[in-house]
Amino acid sequence: GGGRPGKAELQKARMRLSLQEHLWVFFQERVAIPSEEQAVARRAALDICAELRVFLHAKLPDMPLREMYLSGSLYDDLQVVTADHAQLMVPMILEKNLWSSIPGEDTIMNLPGFWLVRRENLEYFPRGSSYWDRCMVGGYLSPKSILEVFEKLVAGSINWPAIGSVLDYIIRPVVPSETLTLEVQYETDRRLYVDFLPLLVMEDGVSLIAKPHRLAAERHENLWRQSFRVAETAKLRALDQEDAGCRGTCLKVIKAVCKLNPALAQLSASQLTNAILLLSEQEGDWTQEALADRFMQLLRVLVGHLEAGRLPCVFNLKVNLFCELTPQEIDELGYTLYCALSDPESLLRT
Ligand code: GDP
Repeated sequence: GGGRPGKAELQKARMRLSLQEHLWVFFQERVAIPSEEQAVARRAALDICAELRVFLHAKLPDMPLREMYLSGSLYDDLQVVTADHAQLMVPMILEKNLWSSIPGEDTIMNLPGFWLVRRENLEYFPRGSSYWDRCMVGGYLSPKSILEVFEKLVAGSINWPAIGSVLDYIIRPVVPSETLTLEVQYETDRRLYVDFLPLLVMEDGVSLIAKPHRLAAERHENLWRQSFRVAETAKLRALDQEDAGCRGTCLKVIKAVCKLNPALAQLSASQLTNAILLLSEQEGDWTQEALADRFMQLLRVLVGHLEAGRLPCVFNLKVNLFCELTPQEIDELGYTLYCALSDPESLLRT
């Protein structure tokens, strides 16, 4: 220990420095989206949202919804590479005494992070007492059935060509789509994808979204997905604010790497955010100068989580954020990232 750094250490320092530089160049050139581009995309999403509000109020005045709103990385300054997607949240109102939520671990599926929403008191409040009874399947509120209701409306009965010509966009529903998505072409070479995302906020504050389990087996069809996105994003931001840290930058870099590299496209913002939040619990130095070190460490912990086949969610450690990946996908992701450990710059050459 002590003394002057050896040759190997100097060599290592030089390599680290150059990775640090590469990361910042990559960030400027590929990751960050010009603010004008973001503003135009947000404007287009807002126009669509306004049209849909008017349409739904007029067409279905008794559908119990709260006001729809836009959300996602485009609104949290966490979108990368191109401003091309947003979520339109559709909060549904459920009667408290008629519906209850059951955590996935207490069901036969034993799936933490997913929930069932069960219809209660059918003997006193028969079918039809709740507007949403029409979307009940086998005694449970079916997200699939809800998406179908909205799909019929949004894809079937709205005259998008007419609205598009008024707004000067080309709008078309994307079919088939796993959720319900509108494609908005707002300039000749710019497209925005707006996902329609029905949302339940339960009494205990749990947010459930109608986004199907990826490995859609029939027995999964009634499952609602718990969303931790608001908490994840807020925590990342709060930690960065405390220490002027680079977690947000690190997240945007790895998100861009995954967006630009097809072999890594399966990794989601939520998985990457949680990996960074978990790493923050064991690593204190998130200064801007440490970006390259933390980036390398992030790659290593991701490889470790993939080897274990398990990435816990920081807000509920029972939730495995890799549970929707197949073993083969996990292997392939792990292999790609493992290879990148010895040549991280290869990830930036896209
Ligand atoms: P990005 O799309 O990779 O830039 O990441 P985002 O942070 O915008 O996350 C969007 C993804 O998270 C979509 O696939 C959504 O379906 C999913 N998601 C889960 N919960 C929420 C939520 O509460 N709000 C939004 N906007 N998206 C959510």
